[in-house]
Amino acid sequence: MFRGKLRNKIIFFMVLVSVVPVLAAGFLSVWSITLSHKIDVANLETALIEQKYNEIKRFMDNTVLGNIIVNVSYEQTTDVAPQDQKFLLGGILERVPGLEWVSFINLEGRETTRLTRLEPDGVSEEDLRNWSGIEGFSEAKAENTYLSPVHFTLNGPMVTVLAPAKNKNGVVIFVTAAEANLEKIREVVENASLGSSGYVYLADQSGSFIVGSGPFDNIGGGTSLEGVGIISGLTGRSGIRASDWKISARREDAKDDITIKRDFLGTEGQRKYESFFGEKVVAAGRFLPEYNWALIAEWPVKEADASVNELIYNNGMVSIAVFAAAVGASILLATFIVRPVKTLEAGTERVAQGKFEEKIEIKTGDELEELGAAFNKMMAGLKRLEELKEEFVFVAAHELRTPVAAMKGYLSLILDGTTGGVNDRTKDFITKVIQSNNRLVQLVNDLLEVSRSEAGRLTIRVSPIDLVSPIHDVLVELEKMAEEKHVQLVHETLPQMPKILADPDRLKEVLVNLVGNSIKYMGGSGTVTISHELKANELITHIKDTGIGMSKEAQEKLFEKFYRIATDKTREITGTGLGLFIVKEIIEKMNGKIWATSEGEGKGSTFSFSLPVAK
Ligand code: ADP
Repeated sequence: MFRGKLRNKIIFFMVLVSVVPVLAAGFLSVWSITLSHKIDVANLETALIEQKYNEIKRFMDNTVLGNIIVNVSYEQTTDVAPQDQKFLLGGILERVPGLEWVSFINLEGRETTRLTRLEPDGVSEEDLRNWSGIEGFSEAKAENTYLSPVHFTLNGPMVTVLAPAKNKNGVVIFVTAAEANLEKIREVVENASLGSSGYVYLADQSGSFIVGSGPFDNIGGGTSLEGVGIISGLTGRSGIRASDWKISARREDAKDDITIKRDFLGTEGQRKYESFFGEKVVAAGRFLPEYNWALIAEWPVKEADASVNELIYNNGMVSIAVFAAAVGASILLATFIVRPVKTLEAGTERVAQGKFEEKIEIKTGDELEELGAAFNKMMAGLKRLEELKEEFVFVAAHELRTPVAAMKGYLSLILDGTTGGVNDRTKDFITKVIQSNNRLVQLVNDLLEVSRSEAGRLTIRVSPIDLVSPIHDVLVELEKMAEEKHVQLVHETLPQMPKILADPDRLKEVLVNLVGNSIKYMGGSGTVTISHELKANELITHIKDTGIGMSKEAQEKLFEKFYRIATDKTREITGTGLGLFIVKEIIEKMNGKIWATSEGEGKGSTFSFSLPVAK
């Protein structure tokens, strides 16, 4: 499932294991703190709104409404004497400092007396109004207290109140009207604050601003807030627009209208939106059903959420730091684990190449070091095995040499007729046995040579020599064999042949092998050309033939022990596959190199070796 570098896997899992819990914990704490903060803000705003609502209500109920709802102890049903009217109204005006004027309206809707602050004895006849047909009057006559929308004067925000006055029997006998100044409410609202930038404001049923704190200090009464946050929420959500709000406070039958106006209190009601001042705020709001007003608290998010934002920032920083530390630590760990593994891998590679000398070194003081020690032990065992094998081959080959040589001698004697007459048939057989014996001799000799080389017993004594004479000797030696196979041997010397550093006997062995192979693998008549090339401090000798050639793959394995190319053309040719291996060992021991090239099968081959030039 997981493929790839061990190092990367370790880093990946370490980071996963260490970072995920930190991130999860961070996320959880941010989440829970954000939630509790949201609750805190909601509670603060709700508490402030409820407090201000109570203060407003106290003022309105106790001061304004409570005083103009008059119950009269008269028996009469309609008429109240003018001086009684004045007495009644004067009392109210005196008791409620917030009232601008009070008036007495009879059941026909005619205003009969009005007392104002400037004219406490009553206004003149022509200033009296006719209230019949006006909604507020009909409401009051129908026993409901009526509160008008807020209107704004130089003296402050005003509301007109109309209330029924009942006689002893509870029958409405006239209507009192009064103009209440809401300056007191301004004081209540203006001192309300949340943190240093939160504020509270009051809006009426048409969505018009009445009074407010903070930045609302500078906003004129009556400014439309329609569409701002909760103002639209209060109207839009309940399904009726601000302009549809019924002027129905205190009406018994208006309960339905009132209840569909939503409150935005607590966490459920909390809203975030862009304020009238274009600032992102978190807000709560409440509908004041008695007066058809809305009381709203807004707190700029910048301040309200500052602590939480800082927390999230810090959390992010910690997460980044933990991530970086985890990555760093896992890279270190991965390196600690992977380095010994790499050392082991390199050791295994050497064993695969048959090199048992160099031990591996792991110094981690743990199981990996133990593994390294075990590996070294295994390597020592393998080395011993290799030595035993070589020794066995050497002893076996050595012991075979004498009987094989003896067989060869006796067979030659028989064939020569020394032991008496031999008929042609027997001669034929004896010849075949001699050929087989020759192959055996070759194999034994090759094996001995290989063993010697592997055991380091291949004795080579280099000295500056002339290459031409060994080549000449070899060509003479192989002449007969070449002639039999119709192969021409050519030697092209350089005008100036330098002396080289080599062992003359071993060099002959090499040449016999290479030139012998060229003749052997000619596959018919052809030419073997020996030529030379001088390069830097080396003399390169090429033995080029026009024989059967070889494929690219074969060229790579040519110098391996027991390797023989198996094709139709080589099937009939006998050999051990050891010759080129021995040749390579000898050349390399003389500080030279050997290689073979061929254009391919049937295109001839060239064997080349280089040897250092003697200084
Ligand atoms: P042997 O000749 O005893 O088989 P060598 O080690 O001398 O072993 O050669 C290995 C193999 O290389 C040979 O079996 C032969 O297939 C191939 N070979 C060697 N020399 C030549 C050559 N000149 N042309 C083509 N093939 C060759």
